[in-house]
Amino acid sequence: AKARGRNGYQFYSPSMSGEGLERLRLEALLRRAIEKNEIFLHYQPQVEIGTGRLVGVEALVRWHNPELGLVAPSRFIPVAEDMGFIKPLGQWVLAEACRQAASWDRAGLVVPKMAVNLSVRQFERGSIAEQVSTVLRDAGLGPGRLQLEVTESVIMNSGDALQLVNDLDAIGVGLAIDDFGTGYSSLAYLQQLPVQTLKIDRSFIKDISLDAGGDRNHEAIAVAIIQLGKSLNLSVIAEGVENEEQAAFLLRHGCRQAQGYLYGRPVAPDELLTRWRRDADE
Ligand code: C2E
Ligand code: CA
Ligand code: CA
Ligand code: CA
Repeated sequence: AKARGRNGYQFYSPSMSGEGLERLRLEALLRRAIEKNEIFLHYQPQVEIGTGRLVGVEALVRWHNPELGLVAPSRFIPVAEDMGFIKPLGQWVLAEACRQAASWDRAGLVVPKMAVNLSVRQFERGSIAEQVSTVLRDAGLGPGRLQLEVTESVIMNSGDALQLVNDLDAIGVGLAIDDFGTGYSSLAYLQQLPVQTLKIDRSFIKDISLDAGGDRNHEAIAVAIIQLGKSLNLSVIAEGVENEEQAAFLLRHGCRQAQGYLYGRPVAPDELLTRWRRDADE
């Protein structure tokens, strides 16, 4: 395999594995993916468990490349982060999601909350709040309609995290802690953050079952997170809810919002509109 040396000279590197080559190819294709219109968003409903009412949607990025087919975000997001491409990608996602929410408004579907994932690299210094303000203004979307999802590690690993989330809070944008329970946030620190929502990670939901087959430890963690949310006056949403048993369990323990295949898979904007506008009309 060839790799570029310090002086730009091509040399053979015996350590360059097939995997390395695969990675280089992925990077090269990803770098051009936005301009080639290969990147798009799907949206997954977030609902109130008791009523089935739509409370929001989460924007999830998709990449379809003619050579590679559909590439999973778990495969290309880490690559985008490493190669410094996550900023333009994240910026595109944010702008597109806000435009979409405003466009649904005009089409007669008001989605109360648009949730967008932020990766750690987007969270490094710089003027994230300023960028977000500009995007919202351009889209004509009120800041209260946007919720940014960050993981615990994003917040704990960023030195300026408190400052950055306070800046976002100041412009009126909501903040959710994603995959909650899998990281290591200090509860004292959590209390200082202007966060509105905890998202219980799917790993604590997937084994919930009403019979004895459930993973009792995971169930206990889910319940503890729900109670923590209550104590700190935060809303709690469960992710990865796939069946009625899980929904019933969550409701019984006081978790009122959920997202998961039970309510709908991530879908293209038109499909979400058709499905939920009809619902809102009823
Ligand atoms: P996440 O933020 O935890 O998103 C939830 C993931 O769970 C999504 O996978 C979603 O399709 C999937 N999911 C939803 N409901 C269910 C369910 O009931 N069962 C199961 N088994 N899975 C469910 P997806 O779309 O493949 O995204 C994977 C991860 O990629 C996301 O995890 C997020 O960390 C990252 N990601 C996706 N879009 C973006 C983005 O625009 N920016 C950034 N920075 N990361 C993104
Ligand atoms: Ca998320
Ligand atoms: Ca999540
Ligand atoms: Ca998760």
